[in-house]
Amino acid sequence: MKKIIYLDNAATTAINPEVVKIMTDALTENYYNPSALYAQSIEISDNIKRARETIKTALHAPEGELYFTSGGTESNNTALFRARKQKNGKIIVGMGEHDSVFAPANELKAQGYDVKFAPIDADGTVNVEQFKDLLDESVSLVSIMHASNETGGVNDIALLSKLTKKVAPKAIFHSDGVQAFGKIPVNLRNTEVDLYSISAHKINGPKGIGALFVRKGVSVKPLLYGGGQENGMRSGTENYPSILGFEYAVKNAILNDFDKKYSQMFKYREYLYASLSSNIENCKIITDISNSVPNILTVAFDKVRGEVLLHSLERYGILVGTGSACSSHHESRFKALLELDENHRDGVIRFSIGEQNEMDEIDEVVGAIKTELFTLTKFRRI
Ligand code: PLP
Repeated sequence: MKKIIYLDNAATTAINPEVVKIMTDALTENYYNPSALYAQSIEISDNIKRARETIKTALHAPEGELYFTSGGTESNNTALFRARKQKNGKIIVGMGEHDSVFAPANELKAQGYDVKFAPIDADGTVNVEQFKDLLDESVSLVSIMHASNETGGVNDIALLSKLTKKVAPKAIFHSDGVQAFGKIPVNLRNTEVDLYSISAHKINGPKGIGALFVRKGVSVKPLLYGGGQENGMRSGTENYPSILGFEYAVKNAILNDFDKKYSQMFKYREYLYASLSSNIENCKIITDISNSVPNILTVAFDKVRGEVLLHSLERYGILVGTGSACSSHHESRFKALLELDENHRDGVIRFSIGEQNEMDEIDEVVGAIKTELFTLTKFRRI
């Protein structure tokens, strides 16, 4: 089988083999329902409590509770739909949010809420001055992502949450941390963020598990009602194997040697950046290296469609992303903002590095891009 060079780790990551072992054991040996009264269940219930604390430690969470969900999408939907809001209050949502925030925001708008979208700059982060202009005391909910899944750009959520609370002290501030958690240091205690969404499959954990952190005293109602699990906040039998897998993934990504992993991702991305810049004519780097997660590099190539280049690279076993925002359907949200000219507009590729990547893979990728771009754009050169 052809070797795969996987550079789409912002879409999802390969599961860590240790996570598979832990989950297999929980699935086969420890299948008991944590709500039951026998000793086996009590042990499971205690392990869930421990996992919650491990993840809160990794978030440097202030007083509050962490609720397990089915992933980033459910955490974001819970925040948007179920956080307390005034019917006539304003809701501010970043223009570059992931669809699991953007679509609920549009639904809230359809329900009659006053939803305003905060403009973003070319690197995909919210423009702070324009954000300030949207603030007034009627704001009841804000949702701004920590790091952009399209560009890797990092929003200063400490600053944005502080600015919000200064003008609207009762507003609830939510941040989608799915692309930031495990990639940059997260310290919620240094912010005024009330709700924070995370997901396991972006950090070599299992798919279908995530969490929503809720700061003490912040009013959020459940999205799902039923047996009252998760302190009544998220009914449904606890996904114990995935919770344990998530806990391990968090330890591996954040609590053990974070600095080393951060430096490796940073170094590989820097190398990719330098290599593309020196070998590929007219490519434009969209990611702002000085203010982004270390694993994402989004690049616009000249006179080629991102999708076409993606499929050409696939033939070499190289897997990359196009970045949904950069495809034609999302024109109104992103293209103008990315400030790209005609020739680069459709040529956006998102490279995202993971812990399994090797330095020499980057040389192979840049070599393949060079060869393919020559072939794909040959007719236009004549
Ligand atoms: N938020 C961001 C920024 C994401 O990148 C993703 C996944 O692509 C999600 C939310 C959704 O997370 P999940 O796949 O766990 O539902």
